[in-house]
Amino acid sequence: VTLRVGLTGGIGSGKSTVSALLRERGAVVIDYDQLARDVVAPGQPALAAIAQRFGEGVLLSDGTLNRPALGAIVFTDAAAREDLEAITHPAIRDRATQLEHAAGEDGIVVHDNPLLVEMGAAEHCDVVVVVDVPEQVQIDRLVRDRQMSEDDARARIAAQASRAQRMAVADHVIDNSGTKNELVRTVGGLWDELVRSSAS
Ligand code: ATP
Repeated sequence: VTLRVGLTGGIGSGKSTVSALLRERGAVVIDYDQLARDVVAPGQPALAAIAQRFGEGVLLSDGTLNRPALGAIVFTDAAAREDLEAITHPAIRDRATQLEHAAGEDGIVVHDNPLLVEMGAAEHCDVVVVVDVPEQVQIDRLVRDRQMSEDDARARIAAQASRAQRMAVADHVIDNSGTKNELVRTVGGLWDELVRSSAS
């Protein structure tokens, strides 16, 4: 790996859209949403640890994780959320490290991680890219594209790192308050810069 890029942004900011564009350009993208699902698949040690901590009630009859049940616990109880993260985050980090090694010596690896700031992972990246939109734009897009209620969108935004916390670790800020075409152009420019800095 010649350049380790951290990519983050608030819910509905357009992070997944940016990561897809970077993948098209040739980046190896590590998708932390996917890793978060993988580490709690049946048979994984993290799932057993979750069942032990939160009770069998967080499992469905087929042995898979009952996400709404677990979500209801950790969304209202900060200590429970910390316990959950203490189980899942190390497993997620291990997998990400494996995938990065598998990417080999050359190339640009993008850690596409909605919780980059919350996990304290920014310091392990050479470059941190933050996708940013004003909160009202975030809410409007979540309501429009994901059928979320406005209250739900606000609660989810409040549960994440703040815009200011993300800005504090950003090397590049992608303003995604314009059109998707503008975003495509901006990401194209960013990619060229990343390639230049990985060559130097
Ligand atoms: P999450 O954290 O929830 O996964 P995200 O940050 O990955 O969200 P996306 O899924 O990329 O966000 O984008 C959220 C929604 O906004 C999507 O429906 C996407 O198509 C739309 N969107 C992204 N960028 C723009 C834009 N510039 N203009 C209009 N809509 C956009």
